[in-house]
Amino acid sequence: QPELWSDDFNDFICKCLIKDFELRPNVLDLLQHVFIKQIVGREKTLQKQLIELIDLSQQIGVIEKTRHERIHTKKGSHMKTQCDTDEVDDLATLELLDELQNRYMTDQIYTYVGDILIAVNPFHKMDIYTPQYNQLYLGAKRTANPPHIFAVADVAYQSLVSYNADQCIVISGESGAGKTESAHLLVQQLTVLGKANNRSLQEKILLVNSLVEAFGNACTAINDNSSRFGKYLEMKYTCGGTVVGAQISEYLLEKSRVIHQATGEKNFHIFYYMYAGLADRKKLAHYKLSDSKTPKYLCNEYIKLVPDIVSNSFYKEQFETVEQCFKVIGFSLEELGSVYSTLAAILSSGDIEFSPVATEHQTDKSHITNNCILENVASLLCIRSDELQEALTSHCVVARGETIVRPNTVEKAVEVRDAMGKALYGRLFSWIVNRINSLLQPDGQLGEDEKGYHIGILDIFGFENFKKNSFEQLCINIANEQIQFYFNQHIFAWEQDEYLNEDVDARMIEYEDNRPLLDLFLQKPMGMLSLLDEESRFPQATDQTLVGQFSDFLKDCLQFYEGFTVIYNAGGFLSKNRETLPADIILLLRSSENELIRKLVTHPLTKTGHTNTLKAHQRLCLSFLNDTNKCVQMVFYGRCKALLKVDIGTDTPSHPRETTNMKTQTVASYFRYSLMDLLSKMVAGQPHFVRCIKPNNDRHAQKFDREKVLVQLRYTGLLETAKIRRQGYSHRILFANFIKRYYILAFPAHEEPEATPESCAVILEKAKLENWAMGKTKVFLKYYHVEHLNLMVQQA
Ligand code: ATP
Ligand code: MG
Repeated sequence: QPELWSDDFNDFICKCLIKDFELRPNVLDLLQHVFIKQIVGREKTLQKQLIELIDLSQQIGVIEKTRHERIHTKKGSHMKTQCDTDEVDDLATLELLDELQNRYMTDQIYTYVGDILIAVNPFHKMDIYTPQYNQLYLGAKRTANPPHIFAVADVAYQSLVSYNADQCIVISGESGAGKTESAHLLVQQLTVLGKANNRSLQEKILLVNSLVEAFGNACTAINDNSSRFGKYLEMKYTCGGTVVGAQISEYLLEKSRVIHQATGEKNFHIFYYMYAGLADRKKLAHYKLSDSKTPKYLCNEYIKLVPDIVSNSFYKEQFETVEQCFKVIGFSLEELGSVYSTLAAILSSGDIEFSPVATEHQTDKSHITNNCILENVASLLCIRSDELQEALTSHCVVARGETIVRPNTVEKAVEVRDAMGKALYGRLFSWIVNRINSLLQPDGQLGEDEKGYHIGILDIFGFENFKKNSFEQLCINIANEQIQFYFNQHIFAWEQDEYLNEDVDARMIEYEDNRPLLDLFLQKPMGMLSLLDEESRFPQATDQTLVGQFSDFLKDCLQFYEGFTVIYNAGGFLSKNRETLPADIILLLRSSENELIRKLVTHPLTKTGHTNTLKAHQRLCLSFLNDTNKCVQMVFYGRCKALLKVDIGTDTPSHPRETTNMKTQTVASYFRYSLMDLLSKMVAGQPHFVRCIKPNNDRHAQKFDREKVLVQLRYTGLLETAKIRRQGYSHRILFANFIKRYYILAFPAHEEPEATPESCAVILEKAKLENWAMGKTKVFLKYYHVEHLNLMVQQA
């Protein structure tokens, strides 16, 4: 054991970091621990040493020192502690941890922290989601029943009806923590609450999730049903609270999964379901699928044989369920057939093989070696096989007004083939989502002048840290960071600003501001995504030069976070980011005789139903982003411009890209755009938070790994949340709104008093409430005050 930070020690660490890929995460974790413990008094030297070590390890990859509880940062968090010491912190952490553990071991998986619900994954079936439970939580006072996800739905619904305002339920947590399950349960309860007039609508809404998840979820190393896209489901209501429709927005589908899956992982569920289902119906041949040879895109060390897929009864059942969902929601049989053909074409296309044409002069030319597969794909896509061959093995360039055909090398041809598979799948997914949206539109169910309201449920892929992390993980983790930022803004920054503005005396809570980390990724012109885009523009750039750029950049602004370290492997970042689908392929697909295929590659490519202009809160978000992050603002405006330019179709894929001009659109820039789109939706509603916690990595019931839970409590700021929720006021209501809603409790029904602090105080005193606060324009209340008042109004 060499002395810490001696030369021997440094040598040893460097060796581990550089040579031993497997060990690297552990070594970095260890370093951080040691670093944190040793920091007092030796900050500068230690910091320098760590930077050097990390620099070295960057030679073989990119390291993101993420997150939480920053030790050192250029911009400190702007809230100062006034009353808390570390000891109190620790005590409170342990209390919360003990409480969660005790409850979890007796199957009480839900706990409130103020008005935030913590849900610890039970990893076994619970009997608390039956219709009796639905009824139990309808309009009930929160203290009347044990904490439950249904209660969150109820609060959101009651707020929608009481204040006629949009609501947004944000579910977060790492992969496998239970977000998607929670989202299902929320929809279940929100549908019951919304008392749909027609049963079929209710039924359709309940099926939407299952359908979309068959296409967007997959088995990963962490979760057998992992969401590989972000989903924002809006349930639409009349102002009276009747559910009239639904709309989904999807974000950032991990398309690369179509062509490649990491060790121990699988492709999207639907491929296996369809294979098994079609085999069962003796329809494999109709879709040109083999009953003995596994398509390459499904073939990995996990699944080798088609017979295994075909005989899987679970897959067969799922296929029947998916088809049923399609039919109930309203897809036609013809559309279904086209969906299957497209999926089959994608699968078969992966088996098209190329080899170099060996002639004396040209070695960079390729040709297809298995023409029968080519024929199959062409026939499934309803295009000409010779044209498909052309588009795969050559490309057109326009030089001085002349079109020249250039051959593709084998690598290039493979790239084009894979790009086609990914693009088709991504567009098919978007088309399904858009089609669902048009089928579930609240057509005619809202009165002519009636403005409907919605409750949005956000369920995105959770934070990921695998042995090998790539571009996909980077995007997923940035999105999670953004959600955490929004949470912080809401729970801490905006709330505390409001106390200051309103002269309300409330204790300030220190929290960890992840803004610097987000800036590190998203800022323009100097953020990691911008650097990536910059490099992607150079055809000569390689993953190596990219890593060089990253290291140069990180040297100046590396920051240290406790928690865990995610190491990204930069291999393939550039090609994944460029993701271009050649114009030749697009034009060819546009000539397809299949209507669906044509639709998939035709613009206008916009989302449905987003004609609304910026709302007040969105402007708030804009000006707020404006402070330090101009790039984000530009992207946001970009979207508005796009809305002005193209008409809003109801039946088209949702990617806002020009199909023939893909060069300018990188995945990173689309990602940034999507994040802003998502954020703008979230800030438009009153938020409710559900924090999912994963109690262990083994997916075992009744196993509570304290260390694991503690890390999650810390990095999500739940502890600070508990504090601010205890001390703060979760409801801030303008005097006029307060009077309008509650004057009946203290004044005669025909005498609505003036909206003054005095009249508000009269009502609160009459209701015998304590511990509220009066601001300059708003009444500040705790959640239980509001509950009490609402109950009194109901009884009055
Ligand atoms: P990802 O980020 O990978 O999409 P997630 O947070 O959405 O993960 P889920 O798919 O919702 O995670 O949950 C993972 C698994 O945990 C589920 O398939 C289910 O087996 C179990 N689970 C989660 N919540 C519950 C619950 N309330 N009751 C029973 N089992 C649950
Ligand atoms: Mg999920």
